[in-house]
Amino acid sequence: MSTSQRWTQVQAEALFNKPFLDLLFEAQQVHRKHFKASEVQVSTLLSIKTGSCAEDCKYCPQSARYNTGLESERLMQLEQVMSAARKALEAGSTRFCMGAAWKNPHERDMPLLEEMVKGVKNMGLETCMTLGMLNENQAQRLAAAGLDFYNHNLDTSPEFYSNIVTTRTYEDRLDTLSKVREAGIKVCSGGIVGLGEDVHDRAGLLVELANLPTPPESVPINMLVKVKGTPLADSENYLDPFEFIRTIAVARIMMPYSHVRLSAGREQMNEQTQALCFMAGANSLFYGCKLLTTPNPAEDSDKALFRKLGINIEHNISSQGDIAQEAQLTEALLTSDTSHYYNAAP
Ligand code: SF4
Repeated sequence: MSTSQRWTQVQAEALFNKPFLDLLFEAQQVHRKHFKASEVQVSTLLSIKTGSCAEDCKYCPQSARYNTGLESERLMQLEQVMSAARKALEAGSTRFCMGAAWKNPHERDMPLLEEMVKGVKNMGLETCMTLGMLNENQAQRLAAAGLDFYNHNLDTSPEFYSNIVTTRTYEDRLDTLSKVREAGIKVCSGGIVGLGEDVHDRAGLLVELANLPTPPESVPINMLVKVKGTPLADSENYLDPFEFIRTIAVARIMMPYSHVRLSAGREQMNEQTQALCFMAGANSLFYGCKLLTTPNPAEDSDKALFRKLGINIEHNISSQGDIAQEAQLTEALLTSDTSHYYNAAP
């Protein structure tokens, strides 16, 4: 399916099969070649339209097909979004992601979405959106409004995909990614592990991502959160945390220039597992919020972990050299009043 062949399935599986410590060592070496070892990029995620999604992704509480008790919310007004973005900025976040549970955005919503992008961008935050599938015109309009990143995950391997989603195809997803790329927007795309897939599928997902014409700048790796009411809620599949860490490490090696993001499922991970994920090359996470509708670790425990590990926050927006501003942002993140964080869950 991929248009270029930087990595083969066999090579990817060989990485997965390496002794754990050898794999971690290699991933850490690759990581240090391209990134500062102790820096993590921090994003805040806001659900701007919640629930009632027409798609049937079996892990997702926002699908209208499952009864998860989630209360649907219409598309937020501009001022609500601006206020959440302001709080994220004050709290030290550098990127503001706005997510809507849609199959695709309606044309009638485009002007408001463009205003959101412009408003958040004007605050000095990087902008990211996840709105489902985009057509060419929508991608171009969002790019013109100043959208920096678009998130659209491949979820899993092409072979396993139909076990998880039937209402949109793998090709649909690749098509949206290519429209986003053509419009000049950076790509955020990854997947979920723990869905019942095997190592062949985890390798297959990473092969697809790494072999995109240009690999995604940001690669979120999610651990399944079993949400009551979704078809996967009672699944007996259990993914050993070491397998999750391996997935991070292989992603780091196969996409050396990408930010690998520790995403959903962090709530269930202990500090040691998270530390090994950073060791394996994860260098991006969501902070101080809930991941759309599933819990994310409390800000205080994040702050404590950052301190224990000596992790600093990467500041793209101040990277032009204002060291004082960087220090101020780090301090804001580590000491700020946590009540300022926006809780993205309804
Ligand atoms: S993952 Fe996205 S597209 Fe799928 S059901 Fe949830 S909100 Fe809809």
